[in-house]
Amino acid sequence: MLLWDYLIAKDEMVMECPNCQTTFYPQMHTQLIGSNSRGMNVFVYYQMCPECKEPVVGVRELKDLLALSIDVQDLTLLTKPKYTN
Ligand SMILES: [Zn+2]
Repeated sequence: MLLWDYLIAKDEMVMECPNCQTTFYPQMHTQLIGSNSRGMNVFVYYQMCPECKEPVVGVRELKDLLALSIDVQDLTLLTKPKYTN
């Protein structure tokens, strides 16, 4: 990826926390789960929300074997029940 592309991508890559709706720059961990029946590589993306300290977890299908940690385009976020203390 060219530096210019990276800078543009980085500017646009913000995401909203499904728990607290705060917008932040994603720096997610990625892990390849495996390839599905359509031959797509399925990745899990995860990080703790910097604001509410709840987990932000999603899955994404890619043709590539490399998943960029800041690229959350087409990421399907999984939600969990809200916990109350
Ligand atoms: Zn949050």
